[in-house]
Amino acid sequence: MAILKLAPSFKDYIWGGRRLIEEYHKPYEGDILAESWEVSCHPDGPSFVTNGAYAGKTLQEYIDLAGREVLGTNCRRFDEFPVLIKFIDAKDNLSIQVHPDNAYALKYEHQYGKTEMWYVVDCEEGAYLYYGFNREVSKEEFAERIKNNTLLEVLNPVKVKKGDVLFIESGTIHAIGKNILIAEIQQNSNVTYRVYDYGRIGKDGKPRELHVEKALEVTRREPVRPRENCAPHVAACDYFVVDKLSAENEKLTGFVGKESFKSILVMEGEGEIVNGDEKMSFKKGDSLFLPADSGAYEISGTFEALATSEGAKKDPLRIGIDMGGTSIKIGVVNEKNEIIARTVLETRLDIAPEELIANMGKVTRKLLEDSNIPLDQCVGVGIGSPGTIDDENGVVIYSNNYAWENVPLRAELKKYLPLPIYINNDANCAMLGETAAGAAAGRKNVVFLTLGTGVGGGFLIDGKLFNGGLLGGTEFGHTVVQVGGVRCTCGREGCLESYASATGLIRMAREQMEKRPDSLLWKLCDGDKSKVNAELAFKASDEKDEAGILAVKEYMKYLAAGIANAINMFRPEVVVLGGGISNRGEKLAEKLNEMVKDECFGHTFVKPAKVVIATLKNDAGIIGAAALC
Ligand SMILES: [Zn+2]
Ligand SMILES: [Zn+2]
Repeated sequence: MAILKLAPSFKDYIWGGRRLIEEYHKPYEGDILAESWEVSCHPDGPSFVTNGAYAGKTLQEYIDLAGREVLGTNCRRFDEFPVLIKFIDAKDNLSIQVHPDNAYALKYEHQYGKTEMWYVVDCEEGAYLYYGFNREVSKEEFAERIKNNTLLEVLNPVKVKKGDVLFIESGTIHAIGKNILIAEIQQNSNVTYRVYDYGRIGKDGKPRELHVEKALEVTRREPVRPRENCAPHVAACDYFVVDKLSAENEKLTGFVGKESFKSILVMEGEGEIVNGDEKMSFKKGDSLFLPADSGAYEISGTFEALATSEGAKKDPLRIGIDMGGTSIKIGVVNEKNEIIARTVLETRLDIAPEELIANMGKVTRKLLEDSNIPLDQCVGVGIGSPGTIDDENGVVIYSNNYAWENVPLRAELKKYLPLPIYINNDANCAMLGETAAGAAAGRKNVVFLTLGTGVGGGFLIDGKLFNGGLLGGTEFGHTVVQVGGVRCTCGREGCLESYASATGLIRMAREQMEKRPDSLLWKLCDGDKSKVNAELAFKASDEKDEAGILAVKEYMKYLAAGIANAINMFRPEVVVLGGGISNRGEKLAEKLNEMVKDECFGHTFVKPAKVVIATLKNDAGIIGAAALC
């Protein structure tokens, strides 16, 4: 980890001054400097790394190269860098404006809204800004006053002094007044609705564009309500937590954990920061960036600075999508891993993948709307998809069930759900579900096997889903338990899947009944061999039918061998069985525990993992997919 010193992008808006150049050491050649974007990944004005291995890169390039971990775990819920931090030197008045909230902006602008915070770094005596209305006004009056240029009469002018903090929640009408120098920390969004611009002419000789209609929709037409005290922070909201650092010839200490990066914007004075064996001096106007997990730091000197980091989302919700062969199950999952809202969508394979994904997105948005769940309360979407997944790029490379090839699932779904989206294999998701809230709750090392048409597997190792190093994930079902055995759908001979799947059991039952014309199985399937299924095979065995007993015995032998292999390979704390075969329940688990026990290495000294039956059934996929977030 290394401390970064960032250099800003510059904005020369017409209302700017020269203070940032003359007093804050900004290396800017032009005459007017209105804004310097000190911590920014915004394409309209990125900030740049000036030191170390990433010197010359933009902040965004640095994040991409060093890995998103530098932002910290609290930033996982954001698709993009969450904040934009600026110095603003208003020599003249800024336009009167308003920013929409997330709900409105997501619906109409396909991006997040904006909440911002101003810290008055310096101002002239008597300087003021506008902050909300001075009384409640009707929509009609608001519109009328914009039209006849009397809006300022109903706005609330606030006289400011050095050190004042104003929190501008989305929907609050506001404007920075002249002769104020501000440090602004805002949600990284660019949706601004301008309602009044003092009749000014822009650089192109035309009046600057206004967005009156939209502003009328989103503005709270009333005085600003007092906010809850967020001490000891200067400001704290879903998008930023800001603290003031102030020292007079002294040493401050702090810590940057793995939860969040820390930005330090120096407003006054100078000093030195030490982190590990690294030392960096700073002065007024500098912007420092400490990556998450930098650890303890010390700052000494005489200075004033703002430290910005990301807090955790309160009561976060996650969306889980379980893509099955006949239906797609969608649920909203809370922190306790309870599904608080759910819906189902038919898996239509007669339409284009893009169309099916669009349906998934629309149905999810409707579920949230109908359940009164704001989209911004959700921190991510997890999807369990059949087939081979490229999670990094969000692509389903191949799915036999869906007949999909190279479908950009994430990019398509993002059009409807602008949240971080994680995709993994459905068997892995079922395993994560059982680990989060089912038969393996609280375990750190888990083997999960689905015994259905095929055999799927998922592995939790040291608390983490094991994805392997290359694309495609693990395929435990396609490990061989009988060299030269039955040919598997994958082409190999003797795969576990050919023996321990329901398909395998059905084959064994048919073989046995063919040798025994008097077998009960013939009666159970009305003389039609194609009607034999796993349930009937178990039934025949329960009723002491010889063919049934022999088939189940053979089946159990291979299944037990596969489970013992997994135990010897991974030394899990528990083996969970899901899929159709697991409907047999405790009887199956009991028998397997008995059989597996002696096959596990060192079983005379160490108790091997217990085989248990999955408990979440149909909900495992949703809860497990949500656990990807
Ligand atoms: Zn604003
Ligand atoms: Zn195979």
